[in-house]
Amino acid sequence: MIVILKENAPKEQVKALLAEFEAQNLTIHYSKGERSTLFGLVGDTAHIDMEKVLANDVVADVRRISEPYKAANRRMHPEDTIVEVCGRKIGAGYFSVIAGPCSVESQSQMEMVAESVKASGAAFLRGGAFKPRTSPYSFQGLEVEGLKLLSAAKKATGLPIVTEIMSENQLDEFEDVDIIQVGARNMQNFRLLKELGHCRKPILLKRGLANTIEELLMSAEYILAGGNSQVIFCERGIRTFETCIRNNLDISAIPVLKRQSHLPVIVDPSHAAGNTWMIQSLSRAAIAAGADGLMIEVHNNPPAALCDGAQSLDMPQFAALMTDLKRRVEFEGLELQG
Ligand code: PEP
Ligand code: MN
Repeated sequence: MIVILKENAPKEQVKALLAEFEAQNLTIHYSKGERSTLFGLVGDTAHIDMEKVLANDVVADVRRISEPYKAANRRMHPEDTIVEVCGRKIGAGYFSVIAGPCSVESQSQMEMVAESVKASGAAFLRGGAFKPRTSPYSFQGLEVEGLKLLSAAKKATGLPIVTEIMSENQLDEFEDVDIIQVGARNMQNFRLLKELGHCRKPILLKRGLANTIEELLMSAEYILAGGNSQVIFCERGIRTFETCIRNNLDISAIPVLKRQSHLPVIVDPSHAAGNTWMIQSLSRAAIAAGADGLMIEVHNNPPAALCDGAQSLDMPQFAALMTDLKRRVEFEGLELQG
C-alpha cells in the first residue's frame, strides 16, 4: 500500500501516522521527493481501512498495490482448488453439471426431474426450498418441506443436492444438503457469510446482480477467513443497461476469477438468459471460457412452474443439451463428473 502525503504536512502529525502503522507490524519505506513525499507499507495490509487513512489530515492519496483478499488469492495458493462432494469433483479439469427446478414444488416433480437429469448426465440435483422473491406475494418455496423432498430425491437417485440458504439461522436444517448455495441477493450478507465460514460444507457463492468481481472475491474471503476452504464461484449474469435479456452473462468474469483466484468457477446460464433459447449458446461459451461447471434449471412442465418457468428447460431439452455439451467438455480436455 502506498500513502502519499500532502505538501507541507506537519512533521508531528506524519510521525504519529507512521507510529500507528508501525504498531500494526508494518514496515515503512519512506521516500521524500522534490515535490511529494510518500511511503510504502509492507506487510499484511489487508486489514487497513483505506478510507480511514485517507481521512487523516496529512494524507493526499492512498493506493493499494496488492489485492485486499488473501485466502482467495491465487498468489497465496497457486494450485487450483478442487471441491469434492460425494465423489464428484469441481475444478482443476473436473467439470460438473448441477440441474433441477428453480423451486421444489412436489414429491412427484422432484422424483421425475431427479431421475431424468441423472440419466442425462447431471452430477448434482438443484432445487430451491427457500426462494428469495422480489414480491412477498409470489411463491416463497416449500421451505422445510422442500428440504425433505430434496433429501428424498437424493436418497432415490444418489444425486447430491444443492439448495439456497437465506439466513444463518437455517444451518441446522441444512444438515443433509451437500452444497449450500448463497444466492445473488445474499452475496453481501456478511453475517451469513461469516457463519458459513464456520461450517464444513462446500458453498456455491453466486455473484450479486450489481457486484464487481472484486466484491465477489471479498465475499469468498469472508467464508475462507472463517476456515471453510470449499467455495465455488457462480457467475449468473449482472444487470446492465440492456433490456432484451434478463441479465448480461459476464463471460469475462470466468478468466478473471480463474486468474485472480484458485477457486472453481461455474456458470448459471438460466438466470442470465431468462429464456430457454439462449441456454445452449451461453453454456457453450462458458465451457470455452474455462468454466468448471454449469448450473441449469430444468422442470418437468415449465409452463406450469411456480418460479422461473420461462427459463427452465424441459427434460428432453436438457437431455439434448447434455449430448451437445458432453462433446464440448471432452474437446476442452475436461472430465465430466456424474
Ligand atoms: C436460483 O438459483 O434459483 C436463484 C434464485 O438464483 P440467483 O440468486 O442467481 O438469482
Ligand atoms: Mn430460478
